[in-house]
Amino acid sequence: MVPLKRKRNVANKNPMQHFHLRHLRVTDVSHQSWCELQVVHGFEKPDVRKTINDDPVVLAGSSVHLARELEEHDVVSVSTESREDHWAVKFLNVLTGLTMLKESGRVRELPVFGQVEGIFLVGVIDELHYSPKGELTLSELKTRLRKSLPTAAQRRTHDLQAGIYKLLFDRMVQGKLESETFVQRLQLRLDKQLAPGVCDHAQAVGFHVCTFSDALELLLLNLTHMDTPNIDNLKIEYVHQSTGAPLGIKEVQFSEPRLLAELHYLLSYWTGQREPQGVDIEDSWKCGWCVFTEHCEWRKASVKNTEQSVWNKRRR
Ligand code: SF4
Repeated sequence: MVPLKRKRNVANKNPMQHFHLRHLRVTDVSHQSWCELQVVHGFEKPDVRKTINDDPVVLAGSSVHLARELEEHDVVSVSTESREDHWAVKFLNVLTGLTMLKESGRVRELPVFGQVEGIFLVGVIDELHYSPKGELTLSELKTRLRKSLPTAAQRRTHDLQAGIYKLLFDRMVQGKLESETFVQRLQLRLDKQLAPGVCDHAQAVGFHVCTFSDALELLLLNLTHMDTPNIDNLKIEYVHQSTGAPLGIKEVQFSEPRLLAELHYLLSYWTGQREPQGVDIEDSWKCGWCVFTEHCEWRKASVKNTEQSVWNKRRR
């Protein structure tokens, strides 16, 4: 490991406070297992991170996901005015998604969220369906530029992502979400009136809500009474981006104790208990694919140390 010279946890603020974050995306956490510092640089330099999101490869991947979603249901646009509106729509999407899963045996783009280690995590499951044996299966779609399966290092981030989705989903359907978390962690106002567009959308899908508190209560009550089972299997489906040709399906081995131990370590950065880590020397090939190379002090220190050790060897 190469020590970082500059301490990032400045002015007694942990990274969540420093970056003004109320929650993390599941993909932020899973990407930490690729390179934690890359995730941190993404928050420090959002303009550089935006170039990744605008990349034609990323955009093409998003359109494949959208096409799959449209196979199952229409995508409705709902006009929102506040953060409470945004979350109320998410809650309605969970409830309509779980109803669809119960009725048709399949749902796509299902939001999942919950608190782990004091950090609120938010994600979207690509697909849930019941297998012919009646097992609830999570299927995550990954598009590939190359016509080959990813390396073990890339697969690790995908497996971690799927594992976190299962953890969050299972806790949600077990009724483990708590209303205080939404108030304390996300700082949402219970008495906030929802925008007319959100109330109309709720009515259109069979619910009556006027305030954020109504939407939250509706979610928590339904989650405990819907009798949705835990996820049994996790799969990652790899397809070729330009042709859509299937490249393979990989099963993910899930171990909750192992996942919780990994999350304990990964999230300890966000709660300010340690400094972020760049890649190990043997994984420095990852830096060749990184848009933050020129900003990365870990990379610079690593190159300097490598040059130094080569020079020392030559002197011996
Ligand atoms: Fe991580 Fe290397 Fe990128 Fe630095 S240059 S953020 S160490 S991948």
